Amino acid sequence: MSVKRILVTGGAGFIGSHLCKKLLKQGHEVVCLDNYFTGSKANVVGLLSYPGFEIVRQDTTYPMHFEVDEIYNLACPASPVHYQHNPIKTIKTSVLGAINVLDLACYLGAKVLHASTSEVYGDPCIHPQTEDYWGNVNPIGSRSCYDEGKRCAETVFFDTYRQSGLDIKVIRIFNTYGPNMHPNDGRVVSNFIVQALRGEDITIYGDGKQTRSFCYVDDLIDAMVTMMNTEQGFIGPVNLGNSAEFTILELAEKVLSLSCSRSKLVFRPLPQDDPKQRRPDITLAKLKLGWEPLVDLEEGLKYTIDYFRRILA
Ligand code: NAD
Ligand code: UDP
Repeated sequence: MSVKRILVTGGAGFIGSHLCKKLLKQGHEVVCLDNYFTGSKANVVGLLSYPGFEIVRQDTTYPMHFEVDEIYNLACPASPVHYQHNPIKTIKTSVLGAINVLDLACYLGAKVLHASTSEVYGDPCIHPQTEDYWGNVNPIGSRSCYDEGKRCAETVFFDTYRQSGLDIKVIRIFNTYGPNMHPNDGRVVSNFIVQALRGEDITIYGDGKQTRSFCYVDDLIDAMVTMMNTEQGFIGPVNLGNSAEFTILELAEKVLSLSCSRSKLVFRPLPQDDPKQRRPDITLAKLKLGWEPLVDLEEGLKYTIDYFRRILA
């Protein structure tokens, strides 16, 4: 295997930090770029023991220059709480960030993988979601800055591919969880685990009957790296996630029992445009990448609960 120099934008975030570690373990040199909006140095500082690792504080909404062979574009807040905090900034990060990353990739002739999302399907009318579904997205709601930003970023990637033939890869990530999520991230898995471990009420939004499909981070990272290394020609978009589907109430019950917590469930208003159901059809990923998730929800939750026990102690 040849050693590559790889840029990971959003590298100090939850998924980015696992990706940096995987690439370093494979022997590559990694530049981790982040503005620390939701990520943290603590996620990556341990990786500085690898001689090929560098951390750079930078914002993808400004042009950037690095000498690299490959780019993974992950920079963007992913939790509804954080991407709605400054929606215009979220749009700029999604769209301007994608344009800046693509400008760099075109200049270098570098391969570039973009982290898109199941949110491009919005509140989906078909179930499970296949890649050819165009989605059901509210263009003016409180989730739109992220959903439409990510949709536009996909457009920018595919137009660049058509215009210049750049080697792009687009993945659509479904709800992923695991160690290195921030305790105040606001997403459901980290919220429930932190609440359960602190003995606080578990906040169920709506009636808890909405569904999600949860992928453990190690499985996702394997798929991302495999996708980057597929031959030119398969550019996606490809769904990456775990197709086992659970209601939010079922997730709460699992977290309570695995963490031996006596927290109570409390019901809170459902946020605007919260998708009622979500499950990836991963037939394409199985076929093109020979990949499927290996870690089931209970096992992944155990690892994640252990992580939060350590950092909350
Ligand atoms: P995260 O919030 O932990 O990580 C995002 C990282 O990007 C953070 O370190 C943040 O500081 C950084 N960042 C944000 N804006 C930036 C900017 N303008 N310039 C530089 N850095 C910036 O979230 P995550 O779960 O690790 O998500 C990573 C990527 O995967 C995101 O693009 C997200 O949209 C996508 N994704 C994640 C999920 C999931 O379930 N985790 C699902 C779908 C898509
Ligand atoms: N949710 C919840 N309680 C929480 C956080 C989230 O019931 O403390 C619900 C949320 O309304 C959604 C689901 O859990 O229906 C997943 O939310 P998350 O923010 O993790 O990701 P989403 O898939 O909505 O982007």
